[in-house]
Amino acid sequence: MKIAKFLPAILLLIFAASAGSAQETANAPSPHENIKQHTNAIFDDLVKVRRDFHVHPEVSGQEERTARKILEYLDSLGLEVKTNIGGYGVVGVLKGGKEGKTVAWRADIDAMASDVPDVVDFPSVNEGIRHICGHDVHTTIGLGIANVLSQQKDSLAGNVYFIFQPSEENYKGAKAMIDDGLLEMAEFDEIYGLHISPFPVGTVATKAESVYAHTNKAKVTYKLTGNEDAKIDFTKAAISGFQNVPADSEFWNWENLGDPEIGIENPNTIFTDFFTVKEKFGIEETNDEVVITAVLNSSNKAQLNSFLKDLKQKIQVSEYSKDLVSVDYSYEKAVVVNDEELTNQSIKSITGIYGEESVIPLYGVVTADRGDDFAYFQQEVPGVYYFLGGANYETGVISMPHSPDFAVDEESIRFGVSYFSSVLLDRINRVQK
Ligand SMILES: [Zn+2]
Ligand SMILES: [Zn+2]
Repeated sequence: MKIAKFLPAILLLIFAASAGSAQETANAPSPHENIKQHTNAIFDDLVKVRRDFHVHPEVSGQEERTARKILEYLDSLGLEVKTNIGGYGVVGVLKGGKEGKTVAWRADIDAMASDVPDVVDFPSVNEGIRHICGHDVHTTIGLGIANVLSQQKDSLAGNVYFIFQPSEENYKGAKAMIDDGLLEMAEFDEIYGLHISPFPVGTVATKAESVYAHTNKAKVTYKLTGNEDAKIDFTKAAISGFQNVPADSEFWNWENLGDPEIGIENPNTIFTDFFTVKEKFGIEETNDEVVITAVLNSSNKAQLNSFLKDLKQKIQVSEYSKDLVSVDYSYEKAVVVNDEELTNQSIKSITGIYGEESVIPLYGVVTADRGDDFAYFQQEVPGVYYFLGGANYETGVISMPHSPDFAVDEESIRFGVSYFSSVLLDRINRVQK
């Protein structure tokens, strides 16, 4: 990644300089200067908060302690807090001094089962569980934004709901919170959230529309006739024939995602047009049917939509046509889809206040088997999902979620809190960029 090298130092200078100059002037600092100063003032404490979460990770559905700590923190800020929403979900409500719109910030809070030893010197005390996806950082940033904005609440023309969501890793928590009435708590106008990523610390990366690949599971059902092996081989080949990138291709090396020439931050990225089939097919036989399933990954929703029809046609002109029962999707995973207008507005907020180099515009989509269940919120409320840089290539910290050596440069907390406090403040106060 091109600008990785000096960026953290440059951005820290911006922070330090702005804090100093504001103290020197007699005029009251602007709201965004206040945000920077306040973020700097609480940063050391936020690092402690993050490490406490890191030392006490809890897996999906069991985030009891984590939720309690979130409640205590939000309570101490004077926010109205609701707990046990969709499991251990917590919501903090920051009411502004004036009437206005309602904006939500979402942070996911769960950890994962992992036996891989932690690379930091404040490792998990819960055996076999680790924050290897950075949700401890997400939770801390959510609390930090709540802290910063609560100091400016009199000037807020609207309300901010801080949603702390459990069970993201199993893709259940967002839906569970919605099913438990979360979205009936208010008329939500917009929702925002982030994920730590291997972009350099000090940056935010996003794009309008999807940032993750679409994933569907195709299901082909035949009558059982006795020549199943041939039918299965034919169907596997038929499905694989749609790929333009095979699953075992070098293309999928995750380093390619950040490659300056072909990665997702280059307008000529290769990650805009791929259709791939997972190598492992599922085969299940019942008394009278055989069911073949395949997991598909594509950059293109339209391609997935036409795939079923095209596959059906292929089978219908084959010798297995008479045995075919159905071709359909057994599931479609909700995908993060960013609202274009809100994406552009929020990027302008960040670059206007923190400099052009703080945002990396994306052109391709991330090739992941899974996205983020933040997608379920976006189906109901327009919003934007960002990748927050957590890597520091100088110190060897490469924050690739779920990788064994996963670690985060904790400066990302400072950037996350200030950038998104500024975004939410602009959104609430309807600052058009
Ligand atoms: Zn994860
Ligand atoms: Zn995650």
